[in-house]
Amino acid sequence: MANPDRRDAVTDGLHLIVDALKLNGLDTIFGVVGIPITDLARLAQAEGLKYFGFRHEQSAGHAAAIAGYLTQWPGVCLTVSAPGFLNGLPSLANATVNGFPMIQISGSSDRAIVDLQQGDYEELDQMNAAKPFVKAAYRVNRPEDIGIGVARAIRAATSGRPGGVYLDLPADVLSAVIDKDQGTRSLVEVVDAIPKQPPAPEAIERALDLLAKAKRPLVVLGKGAAYAQADADIARFIEETGVPFLPMSMAKGLLPDNHPQSVEAARSFALAHADVAVLIGARLNWLLAHGKPPHWSPDVQFVQFDIQPTEIDSNRPIAAPVVGDIASSIKALLLALKPGRLPAWTEWRDAIEPQKQKHIADMAARLAADPRPMDFYGALGAVRAVLADKPDVFVVSEGANTLDVGRNVIDMALPRKRLDSGTWGVMGVGMGYAIGAAVVSGQPVVAVEGDSAFGFSGMEIETICRYRLPIVVVILNNGGVYRGDDVNRGGDGAPAVTALSLHGRYDKLIEAFGGTAYNVADPDALTQALSEALAAGAPAIINCAIDPTAGTESGHIGSLNPKSAVSS
Ligand code: ADP
Repeated sequence: MANPDRRDAVTDGLHLIVDALKLNGLDTIFGVVGIPITDLARLAQAEGLKYFGFRHEQSAGHAAAIAGYLTQWPGVCLTVSAPGFLNGLPSLANATVNGFPMIQISGSSDRAIVDLQQGDYEELDQMNAAKPFVKAAYRVNRPEDIGIGVARAIRAATSGRPGGVYLDLPADVLSAVIDKDQGTRSLVEVVDAIPKQPPAPEAIERALDLLAKAKRPLVVLGKGAAYAQADADIARFIEETGVPFLPMSMAKGLLPDNHPQSVEAARSFALAHADVAVLIGARLNWLLAHGKPPHWSPDVQFVQFDIQPTEIDSNRPIAAPVVGDIASSIKALLLALKPGRLPAWTEWRDAIEPQKQKHIADMAARLAADPRPMDFYGALGAVRAVLADKPDVFVVSEGANTLDVGRNVIDMALPRKRLDSGTWGVMGVGMGYAIGAAVVSGQPVVAVEGDSAFGFSGMEIETICRYRLPIVVVILNNGGVYRGDDVNRGGDGAPAVTALSLHGRYDKLIEAFGGTAYNVADPDALTQALSEALAAGAPAIINCAIDPTAGTESGHIGSLNPKSAVSS
């Protein structure tokens, strides 16, 4: 038994956690302090870790998740017990669904009291509450297990398909004292946390055989491909084969959006006519209409590159699965790709081109229209123009119309620069993603937000200003969820269910914390404000007053919104 009076000979749970994080290169924490983890955050900061304090755990969690996505190493979110833990949980679940490596560490109450439900301060069985939503959940019950607990969390978060891991730290473990040597020996430095998983050679051969028979092939790049950071090899495969490709929204920029082989502008045509689709780190989920008709040909055959074996055959039969990590798999593919093995697909490319050019011309006309008052295209066209020669700027995007129109309007030229609502189509990621991206990269961020979406994390404006982060928040403000012109169907004079403050001045919020405020109502003023704000490299909000009648219900996915068959 360690003697707590001999300070130099003992250590405690708080120190062991910090030591374990440091040993494994987890050098940044996003969190909200309180009982029982305030001293843990203080100690982490004293020991040289970077701590970013948020106003709400969900935003801290989103920051951690996106840090994980960008660095391939878990982002760490630190929360207090029960309510703080629950506030962080949606972001941990969102990280899991999107395949981002993240660890949420929460302090928790006395196990003996929690398990007998005797009513402790912030009593909750957090580990079991977390389990359905995460890739793994662990609790550390003894200080000497902290090292192994952190190691397990890192491995679970990063290996295979990455995801969210919950690590529960009861308060008594944080203060528990053990012998210093024993503590040091208990720490674990994770070796080869993300082992290469090369695919079987026959899987590569099968994929190439199928591709060789294709008349109308299409490569779909998903955020798994972006995550893998195999950018040069993926570009080489696309360019050496001449195959048309479609980037999913967070894979935009893996190859530049203006690449001649990109079929983004002819998406529906390419999906409907492809006879062999090669999915690289993209799931056949709702975002790809589950691979089914009428969006896809009933006869299309699939090649799927994925690290998760159970993803194969999840929606449509996969004729050629390539299970392995994308970096190793694309390398193996390139090695097996001998000159002349694949056809040139000239006819198919010629068929796509007019479709693509037509949509590009339509978009150019829409962007040139400049309606007054400003609409989504007018505002997003201005953002597009300002960012055209600034490929390093991250674009965070959320909101219904803001997200959907923005995906089509704002071109990306570099990988992993577009961060958006992702697999769930979730709102509320905005400020967390913006902060996480700015922190891990040091690069500027433009967060393009609908006024409704911004509200979910708006208080983090104070966080952005406190840390003086280079984040410009552009709020497309039409005064409502979807639109600002809906009416109350009940006639009691209350606002409509989709209503938000019409003509609200979101820019005023940032003035309270020393940031720069802009209020604009036309594309020229937006262009000027955004250029100026980016040049300043400091926190700013640009409130863009747009037409309250602009926008459609649920953006581009209105078909998912059930309507009554009986009432009008
Ligand atoms: P998108 O939404 O862009 O279509 P998804 O999130 O649906 O992308 O799909 C990403 C897929 O990529 C997941 O099925 C995941 O298992 C896979 N993935 C993630 N990282 C890797 C990797 N390093 N190697 C192989 N597959 C990966």
